[in-house]
Amino acid sequence: MQPLPKKYNFSEIERKWQQKWEEMGIYRFDWSDTQRTPFTIDTPPPYPSGEFHMGNILNWTYFDIVARYKCMRGFNVLFPQGWDCHGLSIEIQVEKEHKIRKRDVPPDQFRGWCEQLIERYIAIMKDSILKLGCSIDWTTEYRTMDPDYWRRTQLSFILLHKKGFMYQGTHPVNWCPRCETAIADAEVDYEKRKGTLHYIRFPLEGTDEYLLIATSRPEFIPACVAVEVSPEDERCKRYIGKKIIVPIANRTVTIIGDEAVDPEFGTGVVQICTYGDKEDVKTVLKHKLPIIRLLTDNGRINANGGKYAGLTINQARKAIVEDLEAAGLLEKSEPLAQEVGVCDRCKTHVEILEHKQWFMKTRALTDKVVETANEVVWYPDYMRARLIDWARSLDWDWVISRQRVFATPIPVWYCTNCGELILAEEDWVPIDPKLQNPRLDKCPKCGGTEFTPERDVFDTWMDSSITCAVHAGWPDRPDWKRFFPADVHPSGIDIIRTWAYYLMVRHLALFGETPYKSCLINGMVLGSDGRKMSKSLKNYVAAPEVLGKYGSDATRQWAAGGGATGSDIPFRWPDVEYGRRFLVKLWNVSKFASKLLEGYSPSETGEFELQLLDKWILSKAEKLTQKVTDAMEKCQFNVAVEEIRNFTWHLFCDYYIEAVKDKLYNPDAYGSAKKLAAQHTLYEVLHRVLQLLAPMTPHLTEEIYQAMYAEDKGFKSLQISPWPEHNPEREDEAVEKNGDLVMAIMSGVRQYKAENKLPLNAPVKTLDIYSGNAETANAINSAKEDLAGTLKIANVRVHPEKRNDGKQISPYDVSFQIEY
Ligand SMILES: [Zn+2]
Ligand SMILES: [Zn+2]
Repeated sequence: MQPLPKKYNFSEIERKWQQKWEEMGIYRFDWSDTQRTPFTIDTPPPYPSGEFHMGNILNWTYFDIVARYKCMRGFNVLFPQGWDCHGLSIEIQVEKEHKIRKRDVPPDQFRGWCEQLIERYIAIMKDSILKLGCSIDWTTEYRTMDPDYWRRTQLSFILLHKKGFMYQGTHPVNWCPRCETAIADAEVDYEKRKGTLHYIRFPLEGTDEYLLIATSRPEFIPACVAVEVSPEDERCKRYIGKKIIVPIANRTVTIIGDEAVDPEFGTGVVQICTYGDKEDVKTVLKHKLPIIRLLTDNGRINANGGKYAGLTINQARKAIVEDLEAAGLLEKSEPLAQEVGVCDRCKTHVEILEHKQWFMKTRALTDKVVETANEVVWYPDYMRARLIDWARSLDWDWVISRQRVFATPIPVWYCTNCGELILAEEDWVPIDPKLQNPRLDKCPKCGGTEFTPERDVFDTWMDSSITCAVHAGWPDRPDWKRFFPADVHPSGIDIIRTWAYYLMVRHLALFGETPYKSCLINGMVLGSDGRKMSKSLKNYVAAPEVLGKYGSDATRQWAAGGGATGSDIPFRWPDVEYGRRFLVKLWNVSKFASKLLEGYSPSETGEFELQLLDKWILSKAEKLTQKVTDAMEKCQFNVAVEEIRNFTWHLFCDYYIEAVKDKLYNPDAYGSAKKLAAQHTLYEVLHRVLQLLAPMTPHLTEEIYQAMYAEDKGFKSLQISPWPEHNPEREDEAVEKNGDLVMAIMSGVRQYKAENKLPLNAPVKTLDIYSGNAETANAINSAKEDLAGTLKIANVRVHPEKRNDGKQISPYDVSFQIEY
């Protein structure tokens, strides 16, 4: 046993163990191990954003606690780490930094800038993950922008194309005019904005009557293809089938009837434009209406807008309202609170445009998704509904093509002569069709020899939604199914609709199997004011600041203990400080214990007799083991950390150690068998605390383990030593009850001394305890020596009778009197 250094220097200790664990290679996944059961974590590869925030700390702490716990449970743990590089936000950042738009420079140069930026961002995030001390197997590190990963994304596309899940179609899609690309439903956020509702007169053809239409988007009037009323609307139903004049455009359209119109809402008359919103899309499809495309890809009015061509959407709205007013067709305008769909990357109002796109048939899988989601274990259970509700809410298939640069290319060409689609063969990938021709001499259909590459690229979720298979070694390892499905997919509550969903549909389509057996959901991190943490609200705290000030072990306690799994948790500095104080307490008690254990050798210990208080804390430690193990199995990290801190701080330090200190300092009065029993207990209980804490606070527990236990226990790291087995035989209800009473008497006497302004170590002549019955008296008598030694009492007398005039020990029927 080595003495612990005087001062607990967390940054030194944490850095030291992070390096040593890496050198020892204890987190290397053993691919060839057939003895241990594998446990695979589907670490979601993060989007490199250039900062590691407290939300990331929460995520990675959860992942790492699971990984370390499972490792101690004897599993062969795979904790991989990748980086989800592609995507709009990086392109937007590059455009900003270089003050250009993506089309201003050659694609190669643009891509190069994106890659440089990504590497810079990865370095920043990796530094924090290392400082957090995650047990990642870094030999698994990958980047989705590498051709080797493209290969997997492209192969998955080819396989799904062959299975009939991929198709091209001209369908309306969500379109960001700022980013100039299609985006999926999952990338549309909703924001409350103030708009204006305009009441516009649409003249009925051949009469001097008009119908009043209320709309917040008058700029779409040039794309009006029908006017719709409810067939149950007494005022309007007689107009169904009649013609009405579209103002501004001066064309006529037909008035159609549809039950979907609510006669009570607005004026009960609706203009159908292509496309003002998703409802328009449904109506156009149902009534087979013509389509007038009004917008260009960058959000301006096109030639179909007549005199408004070239204007932005906002300019067109203003101009059209002015013209309507001048023509006497604007009845009134009123403010409108509305919720609008915006691009989740740039917050631009999302439009609906028709474009030829690639789609994946995801809606065909909805029933299977629901069935599988019901089989998956969710932590916490109620999160299951989020995935199911989302899958059921989807109106459209997943649009998987994007009109961007920095992404995985779609491995497809078209015959320039006849337009035949040429899909890459499985062994052609990775391939960029823009740089390489298909490996064919001629078009199989017409014999043509010229090919046009697909210029669209994949949605970045196409890369990141195959990770469960990729982490398992697909497609290269013949035995990849040994590591699939992933045992756990951990994810944030905000990305269930993307990550958990896309993983599910992709793997179900590819392999007919669930990608993950369980899903562990974390909530969001709030600022100390209870609002969402954000730089603009000035409640933002950067992770490196917290890690620098308090280190990893204290920060991890905040993450683990901040709230129930799945709930939002606030970041508060005092919570991290509390974590740090606990570590200092654990450090000090271990130092103290190592002194009390001087000369103690667990392997050569002689005969010892466990006393009441020894048995009491050993029984409590078994119960703790049971509670913490249960909590860890259910991923209730906050329960586990609270149980351990309470046990360690109060039962172990404040009570047990205080109660046996005297025995260890002055063993002559007690005899060596009792001293050895106390040493044995102290040694084992402290070890148990370290074991249970190891997944939460790996650094400090390792430092103490190495100094005090490594030689005896024989594991080169606490992290790879077995998780303690709960031993019910060591639990003893009667012992716990009696021990609790003895502890209550000790506190009672201490409190008495404090109330009477006596120093805690003031000697006492006599303590008379009135226990109420013989049985209780026997129990107290068995700890008489400890009471006397600990409380500096010359004479302890235990009486079986009951007296009410002394100091009561509530809730027991016991009282005492002191003479000093
Ligand atoms: Zn955008
Ligand atoms: Zn051809």
